[in-house]
Amino acid sequence: MNLFSLLDQTAARCADRGAVFVGDRQLHTWRELHDRALRLAATFGEPGSRIAIASENRPEIVELMFAAWAAECVVVPINYKLHPREMQQILEDAGASRVFASPKIAAELTPVTDVPVEPVDSAQYAERLAHAPAEVPRDTDPTRLAWLFYTSGTTGRSKGAMLSHRNLMAMTVAHLADFDSPDENCSLVHGAPMSHGSGLYIPPYVSRGARQVIPESAGFDPNEFLDLCERHPGCSAFLAPTMVQRLVQTGRSCPRELRTIVYGGGPMYVESLKKAIAAFGHIFVQLYGQGEAPMTITGLRRADHIDADDATLGSVGYPRSGVDVAVLREDGSFAGPGEIGEIVCRGDVVMSGYWNNPEATAATLQNGWLRTGDMGSFDERGYLTLRDRSKDVVISGGSNIYPREVEEVLLEHPGVEEAGVVGAPDEEWGEVVVAFIVGSATPEELDAHLLDRIARFKRPKRYIYIDELPKNSYGKVLKRELRARLA
Ligand code: AMP
Repeated sequence: MNLFSLLDQTAARCADRGAVFVGDRQLHTWRELHDRALRLAATFGEPGSRIAIASENRPEIVELMFAAWAAECVVVPINYKLHPREMQQILEDAGASRVFASPKIAAELTPVTDVPVEPVDSAQYAERLAHAPAEVPRDTDPTRLAWLFYTSGTTGRSKGAMLSHRNLMAMTVAHLADFDSPDENCSLVHGAPMSHGSGLYIPPYVSRGARQVIPESAGFDPNEFLDLCERHPGCSAFLAPTMVQRLVQTGRSCPRELRTIVYGGGPMYVESLKKAIAAFGHIFVQLYGQGEAPMTITGLRRADHIDADDATLGSVGYPRSGVDVAVLREDGSFAGPGEIGEIVCRGDVVMSGYWNNPEATAATLQNGWLRTGDMGSFDERGYLTLRDRSKDVVISGGSNIYPREVEEVLLEHPGVEEAGVVGAPDEEWGEVVVAFIVGSATPEELDAHLLDRIARFKRPKRYIYIDELPKNSYGKVLKRELRARLA
């Protein structure tokens, strides 16, 4: 089983139809995409090599993914918003053999890494495309690694969730079974980063011959997104809740060709969801998932949103096809309806562990179940509602930020004695990062300090100065109390 077979079959059926578009412009047909991927694959070296991609959304990402799979290599997509030093940590952890990067990121990354960095607009890249094509892989072991999904770690270092061809095929099948049934007259518009949610949706849409549409602007521009959904046929997209809100804020109505928006990856407030439905109609689908069980734990289908009460809209729906989901009590027994516990899941979609990190794997995969770190409860109907996260994480605009990581960097500043970072509810971003500071460093100094060391999106939106952080008798900072002060 190899994900490349999805492209192989589509190229045979839809050879001369448009496959990859940038804005309105057709870049490659399916036959051309297939050919380019196999030519690149022939240059990738040993099977199992980790091929990293660090780029804003660009058309090359699609061909690089299928090239890596054709060569039985592993794709390592890197969030383009990370600081170059954070990217370098991922490259090092993954033992990447090379990194393909957009011209902008290539320039920032080259000085900080020993891993060969190759801009996708370079002569070297063009040379690869002139190489004789590789053979189509026919006999790949389904457990072979296909994707290392890096999630920020509680210790500040990223962990790579190991996803196999089988894992991503299970995700693909569940998406087609539960959420959307595209065909060759449809399009996937990449609004969200292709290094995460939007990129994971490439396989299901490629398998049905749906166009891959990449907007021209590097970041998310809601008006451009809506324009593209007027001009391409039968559009679907994955968007973080913040992006959905930005669509609503344009005041525009639903484009004629926009059929499906999958939202998730972070909490969406019920009121925001209702506003989105009022503006765009019933085009929404919710997913609850995580890198360790990519995009696929529970969900709410389009029909589940129609005439739904607040409890349903505020839930994350019910288990996805092929996935077992349960809530466990602290003693490991199964919780009953209404009882809050840790959410666990199992199925073909669940990762095999974290790359080179047996301790983290052992803590996360237990008795055949993936411990999600999310706390929640089922109701009598089997709808799951998230209540809290057992992992200390802030989700802002769909990006995960681990407070510990920000605290550690803040504490490196000589003008900071103590730092406590929490998430504050925020209408636009879901949550925003707020730092409680004991010390004399000014917000401007702290901003400059952080921007030099970690990704911009992790920077606190607010600093609150206090005399001392609240602590329990063991000296552990009481985050709950910090959050209460915000309220
Ligand atoms: P990531 O691994 O970066 O995709 O982050 C996964 C985490 O995002 C999950 O463990 C949840 O805490 C959160 N999350 C994902 N989907 C949803 C959702 N639909 N509603 C609320 N939180 C979500």
